[in-house]
Amino acid sequence: MRAAHYPRPVAKVLIVGGGIVGITHALEAIARGFDVEHFEASAEPRDATPRSPGTLHFSRAASGVELRAARDAAERWQALGVGSAVASPTGSLVIARDDNELALLEMLGSRPDAPERGWSVLDVEGTRAVNPALAGRVTGSLHSGLDIVVQPRLLLEQLHRRLSDHSGYRFHGGTKIRDVGGDSIEDANGRVHRGDLVVLCTGSDSDLTMSAIGRPAQIRTVRLQLAQTERCGLELPTPVSEPAALLYCGIAADGSLDGFLPPSPAASLIGDQEIALTCVQRANGSLTFGEVRQQEEPFDFGIDRRPLELLTARMTEILGSPMPPVVRQWDGEVRLPTGGRLWIREDLGPTVTLITGTGQRGITLAPSIAAETFDWLTEDIDSGATRPGADQRSVD
Ligand SMILES: Cc1cc2nc3c(=O)[nH]c(=O)nc-3n(C[C@H](O)[C@H](O)[C@H](O)COP(=O)(O)OP(=O)(O)OC[C@H]3O[C@@H](n4cnc5c(N)ncnc54)[C@H](O)[C@@H]3O)c2cc1C
Repeated sequence: MRAAHYPRPVAKVLIVGGGIVGITHALEAIARGFDVEHFEASAEPRDATPRSPGTLHFSRAASGVELRAARDAAERWQALGVGSAVASPTGSLVIARDDNELALLEMLGSRPDAPERGWSVLDVEGTRAVNPALAGRVTGSLHSGLDIVVQPRLLLEQLHRRLSDHSGYRFHGGTKIRDVGGDSIEDANGRVHRGDLVVLCTGSDSDLTMSAIGRPAQIRTVRLQLAQTERCGLELPTPVSEPAALLYCGIAADGSLDGFLPPSPAASLIGDQEIALTCVQRANGSLTFGEVRQQEEPFDFGIDRRPLELLTARMTEILGSPMPPVVRQWDGEVRLPTGGRLWIREDLGPTVTLITGTGQRGITLAPSIAAETFDWLTEDIDSGATRPGADQRSVD
């Protein structure tokens, strides 16, 4: 057991970063009775959180620590009660287009932990009952009733409004923090702010994060590309993925997908761009789809149209009708911890902690990450999520 983590009772917490990880840490601190001063450099969020399609696939976590965190996060998102315009209990579907893919989904659906993941295997009729838009090439699907879809920008706005109503919360928008000391932080105008604890939730794309990570080798960067169609009359009530998308989720960590995947290189690779379909409908009716992934830096700065054309063709095949025209494309980078940690929690001193490296789990797990941080800081409880090998471990 380590010594008491921080040297005195906590009254005020300084949180740096207004993305979903910072916002959920602020909510958790307020819920635990602390006052919060919250610092965000930008006038509006532009980094990872608003770039995400907001698919929260709790069901696709690795067994053990991650699945526990994912189920806990699913409950916490529900308890936050953000409303159906911002978070919808859509469930999710992985679509099989041939017997080989269906065999994979049946194998997953018969795992002992399938009920914990909300998984059931549906035949063609069952799939179309859940998602009538899928009139094309479908041989069955893996449905999870656990998963949800959020509108990331609206989510940030709504949670921020909720925080702002609280008397113990003070927001410093447009305030970049340039230095961190023992119990204080200094902003770009040289003002010093003091608190009992400092939690840095500065995402991946931040000088502060990069200078604070003690061992840069514990993190790697992945570039993702997505596209959005114009608004359309089509209704896609659940997000859909092809089985290859599971390869990039925790569920792949225990090797249970080996042998079935990946599909032929021609179907999944263009140059160094790895392609796996996920498509979700936004609140405004448009479809957001991807994903194109590059795992080796340096990344090209352009957006290659060919992978997105391939994904369009694949989605068209499942729908049995043409996709609406694409009107926007964008990319974003996520940083993932190496060594199977689920995210990085780095103590920079007795009262300063950095939370980063949430990869593509950041929104999904955010409320659980926040609870874990304060469990650790104030009660010395460690869930094991930030220890090497956490993605395959069932006991701490
Ligand atoms: C293309 C893409 C798709 C994704 N898809 C999903 C998905 O489907 N599901 C999922 O769960 N996750 C997904 N993710 C990952 C998810 O978006 C991130 O894990 C999550 O948003 C990280 O949140 P964050 O608050 O740590 O970082 P960010 O959202 O990047 O926020 C960090 C904030 O800190 C601020 N900041 C930085 N430095 C300073 C400073 N010095 N002073 C003050 N403020 C500072 C920044 O301005 C920024 O607003 C995706 C990410 C991308 C890029």
